[in-house]
Amino acid sequence: MKITMLAGGVGGAKFALGLRALLQARHPDHELRIIANVGDDMWLTGLKVCPDLDSLMYALAGVNDAQRGWGREDESTRVSAELSEFGVGWPWFTLGDLDLGTHIARSALLREGLPLSDVTRRLSARWDLGARLLPAAETDLETWVELEAGCAETGTVHFEEWWVRLRAGIPAHRFHQRGTQPVQPGAGVLEAIADADAVLFAPSNPVVSIGTICGFPAADGPGIAGIPEIADALRSTRAPVVGVSPIIDSAPLRGMARQCLQSLGWECSARAVGLAYGARSAGGLLDGWLVDEADASAVPELRSAGLHAQAAPLWMTDAATSQDLAAAALQLADLVSSSPR
Ligand code: GDP
Ligand code: CA
Repeated sequence: MKITMLAGGVGGAKFALGLRALLQARHPDHELRIIANVGDDMWLTGLKVCPDLDSLMYALAGVNDAQRGWGREDESTRVSAELSEFGVGWPWFTLGDLDLGTHIARSALLREGLPLSDVTRRLSARWDLGARLLPAAETDLETWVELEAGCAETGTVHFEEWWVRLRAGIPAHRFHQRGTQPVQPGAGVLEAIADADAVLFAPSNPVVSIGTICGFPAADGPGIAGIPEIADALRSTRAPVVGVSPIIDSAPLRGMARQCLQSLGWECSARAVGLAYGARSAGGLLDGWLVDEADASAVPELRSAGLHAQAAPLWMTDAATSQDLAAAALQLADLVSSSPR
């Protein structure tokens, strides 16, 4: 059984752990491929930093700092402090010493000429991840935020600066994706969508984690483009495509999804995100959409829009609830497969 999942960092990693456990228990012959957002990536202090790829890698390897929510467990920040003394890097963006080891290794391999997909494979081969990590793009494709005019700060900042330094406190007027043109999807990404038995969208930020991979429209316009070949692959795959809402009862559990949705003119709700992704039968990206039981009242409208919408418990509070959520997503994928198109 081949499962392909689209993911950002922390929400994506929680879901990936549940999905991996479920597949190991029920489908010993499975293949799990995770297409990771690269929009948060940046070159910092001369090093290529890939926050979402690393959150996924560390969580699957069991070496993440779950308390802090980023970086490796048991790491110090002596190198970051030293860099700040030199005035190099972002003083508000602390990178732990073990994490810096990853970025040094990645940058060294990139400078040797390896593409990011190969580098990611080399780095993750160190652990038994039980999944293959696929960067969404091979070439740089960073998310930048154009700040709303007339605020305390103006101009355009890298997404991580908007989130970590500005705490998304200045409204985003627009999201841009900056990178080498034409954008090249990561090696293996299109194939992993085409030959999957099911494609799942993790409950990740719909705009800056999933939208940067496959696009996300604004309520009244084009929104964020993503990587058009990936959107095409999703539209044409024979596999059922099922998404899990990161929004429960009109609130993201963590993070800046509200600010991102607002800047694209959407309300922050599982209903709005499902309608924005849209049904594949109506030119959108999804067949199925899982919302939390608290949002069950949105199901009829989502179904009228052509989505196989269902309500289930979406909180991942521990390993068991993450696995149950993965099971609910796969069950919905089965239901989609057995329904007439
Ligand atoms: P990031 O790249 O680290 O910001 O992580 P993601 O984009 O992968 O995930 C962030 C999203 O995960 C947020 O919008 C949260 O609402 C969502 N999220 C976090 N925990 C849970 C959970 O237990 N259940 C659901 N449904 N969503 C969650
Ligand atoms: Ca992220």
